[in-house]
Amino acid sequence: MRIDVLGVGFDNCTMDQAVAEGIRLMGDGGCHYVVTPNPEIVEMCREDEEVRRIINGADLVLPDGVGVIYAARMLGTPLKEKVPGVDFAQKLMASMAGSGKTLFLLGAKPGVAEEAGRRLEAAYPGLRIVGTHDGYFQEDAPVAEAIRETGADVVFVCLGAPKQEKWMVANGPATGAHLLVGLGGCLDVFSGNTKRAPEVFQKLGLEWFHRLLKEPRRIGRMMKLPLFMIHVMGEKGKR
Ligand code: UDP
Repeated sequence: MRIDVLGVGFDNCTMDQAVAEGIRLMGDGGCHYVVTPNPEIVEMCREDEEVRRIINGADLVLPDGVGVIYAARMLGTPLKEKVPGVDFAQKLMASMAGSGKTLFLLGAKPGVAEEAGRRLEAAYPGLRIVGTHDGYFQEDAPVAEAIRETGADVVFVCLGAPKQEKWMVANGPATGAHLLVGLGGCLDVFSGNTKRAPEVFQKLGLEWFHRLLKEPRRIGRMMKLPLFMIHVMGEKGKR
């Protein structure tokens, strides 16, 4: 069941249910994609009909941040729990390591995906990363073809939003992969270039605040958060 937050329908599932569904989609044939919107992306969807269609068209729409969880609760339709993309990806890889499914890492600055790949293979023994490509390319088709040649089952697409979502819809079928997951800055985390917030920040729902302290240039983007809350309050009034 999906829960509407300002026009974006979020799957109301726990982390474990989301991972189980990801695994099912992987083995389902066809080409599926997963998105992990945060309040900033919900705001993008309000401003851009095409982005909204692409987000809502995903096979799994996971609430990446605590902001979406608060919003759903305020609107009287609570979601079960937050499902951060980075945690979802880690659980998916743990499962893939045991099943022999293969993974391709796409995105981030040159060298980052390779380093992430090395670290992930060490962290998840048995995980098969069959290829990597940076996220700064001009033409999509050769990249999709390079992925197809590896025979990857799953692609982590880390180009930032909404570029990665558009890329998955336009190029997913050409990659031959069964599951594509849009994961923003995850490769920077997996490569060790960016540190995740300490657990206490994560538990308190303050991961965004830690990120702001580390990367003050994000303030412009984060100003979308109060705007999001204003829109949620407006919607609550209407309902
Ligand atoms: N990126 C990319 N190609 C581009 C633009 C961005 O590969 O054309 C990468 C960028 O290097 C970073 C990621 O996309 O690794 C976006 O990270 P950001 O922190 O903005 O994403 P978030 O996690 O906030 O969605």
